[in-house]
Amino acid sequence: MTAVPESTDGVLVDRYGRVARDLRVSLTDKCNLRCTYCMPAEGLPWLAGPQLLGDEEIVRLVRVAVERLGVTEVRFTGGEPLIRPGLLGIVAAVAALRPRPRISLTTNGLGLERLAPALRTAGLDRVNVSLDTLDRDRFAALTRRDRHADVLAGLAGAARAGLTPVKINSVLMRGVNDDEAPALLRYALTHGYELRFIEQMPLDAQHGWDRSTMVTAAEILAALKQEFPLTADPTERGAAPAETWLVGDGPARVGVIASVTRPFCGDCDRTRLTADGQVRACLFATEESDLRGALRAGADDAELARRWRTAMWGKRAGHGIDDPTFLQPVRPMSAIGG
Ligand code: SAM
Ligand code: SF4
Repeated sequence: MTAVPESTDGVLVDRYGRVARDLRVSLTDKCNLRCTYCMPAEGLPWLAGPQLLGDEEIVRLVRVAVERLGVTEVRFTGGEPLIRPGLLGIVAAVAALRPRPRISLTTNGLGLERLAPALRTAGLDRVNVSLDTLDRDRFAALTRRDRHADVLAGLAGAARAGLTPVKINSVLMRGVNDDEAPALLRYALTHGYELRFIEQMPLDAQHGWDRSTMVTAAEILAALKQEFPLTADPTERGAAPAETWLVGDGPARVGVIASVTRPFCGDCDRTRLTADGQVRACLFATEESDLRGALRAGADDAELARRWRTAMWGKRAGHGIDDPTFLQPVRPMSAIGG
């Protein structure tokens, strides 16, 4: 592979000319739910304490990305980011960076009702909350925990605290909740949330994903159109993973993240940092670059930036889910940061 051209110093560019400005940071691989499409009932072998980046290490790496590599968006995720003890301090430290990045968080919503005001005060701009069903029993079966009411309360709490626009992420599974697309949209419209469906991807720890049974974007749109007039959203999509439609004449919108059937790798602007300090150029990458080791060995900011740029330069053109040679990454989604 050729070396990263010096002329591109200051940005995370790859060989295909894509520039990464959106950093996803996983704060933990642990979770307090057990969504069937994500992890097994017994959980996973979690990262040990010393493997995890400390709060100051996370903030330092985010600072390097913002100050030296042109990152303008920081999204905290996991595992479940709300269970990270130092979350508020991390958010506040990232909000103090200049130029200040936009800061968001993807969460399952448990505990969000209580934490939302403090997160807002710390500098969080908005949240994405995962909600796959409106039915309490289905939720309990799907997540293996009876916590549906907490998620709904978390959504409301986030809106009250001004973490807006509040977005909902929904994954549909055949025979489980694939009859709920219109009801989820009705719920989101009623409460002023923005709904996005995510096609299920081969990133589950159990390797249970099956292309032939996954619910596709086309099916989701067909189901929605039975009840709602949808028109293509004229807003420029840019690097956004979601394709969006206006509901009626707008301004309400609904999105579909069709990573499998309509991949958007050509416009990808994401770079990822795992909870144990590995840079990944893609959710589906099979290579990682160890920034934790470099950081703990005394690397200065310039060296960390150089390593990050090298990692991104090697980003592959696409995720290759449709290639016969496709191999699911060793880390599941919960350990990468979704
Ligand atoms: N625990 C938080 C949550 O559930 O929002 C953040 C981490 S979770 C891995 C991030 C998002 O990835 C969630 O919206 C979840 O539904 C989605 N997700 C998890 N496994 C997935 C899979 N195999 N395919 C598609 N989306 C998945
Ligand atoms: Fe936890 Fe999120 Fe995975 Fe569900 S999708 S098990 S909430 S990490």
